Amino acid sequence: MTFVTRFAPSPTGPLHLGHAYSALIGFHIAQAAGGQFLLRIDDLDQTRARPEWEAQLQDDLHWLGLDWPCPLRRQSQHLVNYGAALDRLSAMDLTYPCSCTRRDIAAAASAPQEGAPQTGPDGLIYPGTCRGRGMAEAGPDDAIRLNMVKATRALPELTFTETGPNHKGVHKLSPETLIHEVGDVVLSRRQMGASYHLAVVIDDTAQEITHVVRGEDLFEATSLHVLLQHLLGLPTPIYHHHELIRDESGRRLAKRDDARAIATYRADGMSPEDIRSILPPLSDI
Ligand code: GLU
Repeated sequence: MTFVTRFAPSPTGPLHLGHAYSALIGFHIAQAAGGQFLLRIDDLDQTRARPEWEAQLQDDLHWLGLDWPCPLRRQSQHLVNYGAALDRLSAMDLTYPCSCTRRDIAAAASAPQEGAPQTGPDGLIYPGTCRGRGMAEAGPDDAIRLNMVKATRALPELTFTETGPNHKGVHKLSPETLIHEVGDVVLSRRQMGASYHLAVVIDDTAQEITHVVRGEDLFEATSLHVLLQHLLGLPTPIYHHHELIRDESGRRLAKRDDARAIATYRADGMSPEDIRSILPPLSDI
């Protein structure tokens, strides 16, 4: 069986222990399966992506003993493909323009008639303020959203296979869950051209990824990715969501956790073996 997986960091900060764990798991599973491990640079957000961070993360991953084929795929070089996918969804009448700010969304979602505000993969579930607008009125500053009710109408039975420790099995997509717990997500943002959710399904297909290995925090978003794959006629890979590395207080590590940056451990004289020894054993995944 062919096996291709990828590690897809955003070059917007230092590679920390959580990223290293994710990359090591992907590399380890690929090796065990006699498959391929790819590195992809998720640099859609050009306001935050920096070549220095990319150089540092590649250096840290090599230092950890990982390698991958070149040239690398960088999202910023494929905006035209994401635009074409967006046009396709728009031609299917599944999108609408939205001018709401985060503050507008927070205010509308906390209106008394809305009940307790619900959150999904992108934060608050969009309350639908702009849903009645048509694409013909889209302005240059508008975000473009997926109309989830329309997108899940007449959906055939869709499933995906998960092999990670906490959700192992075959998962069925539920239109109700997609509508109420994912909602009208953004597909294209001002300045970025495409959102992560749209780009990731295009990239995984373009790179012929058979197994997506990534953190547990993205499990919730997987139904959305499988829905987008179905709407765009793309294949669905197998998913493996691994556990997250947390700090002492149980919070997942973030870019701001400089103390757990691989570069900091390296500067402190730790070896790649030392890093592996402070991570959960790869035999446990
Ligand atoms: N750039 C994304 C992240 O760092 C990649 C997520 C994925 O693997 O799909 O969260």
